[in-house]
Order: sequence, then structure tokens, then C-alpha cells
Amino acid sequence: MHIITHTCSDCGTVVAANELEANRVMKCPGLGCQSVLRFDDLPADDRDFFLDNREQYQL
Ligand SMILES: [Zn+2]
Repeated sequence: MHIITHTCSDCGTVVAANELEANRVMKCPGLGCQSVLRFDDLPADDRDFFLDNREQYQL
């Protein structure tokens, strides 16, 4: 399965696309990091792939 993740540009914490999609906007889970991560931060190709295949990503 193609894993889609987003890497926080501030602290390097990796967040799974399904978490971003569920929350749309979420505070970075990195310790002490105040960055806000958005599903829209993902590249368009990754967003399209995720939305086309989202049933595969349900936990
Ligand atoms: Zn971060």
C-alpha cells in the first residue's frame, strides 16, 4: 500500500495522511512543536490519491 505522510517542516514529525484528513487541521504532535498541519499541505497528487483510495486507509 502506498503510504501517504506529511512531514512537519519545523520538527520533522511524520503524520499519516488519514490523521490529517480526519482532522483537516491539527496541531503537530511533535513534542514542543506549535506548528499547525493541514490536509491541504499535502501535495495535490497525494491528496488525490488518498481521496481516491481512502477506504484502504481506514484503520
Ligand atoms: Zn512539528
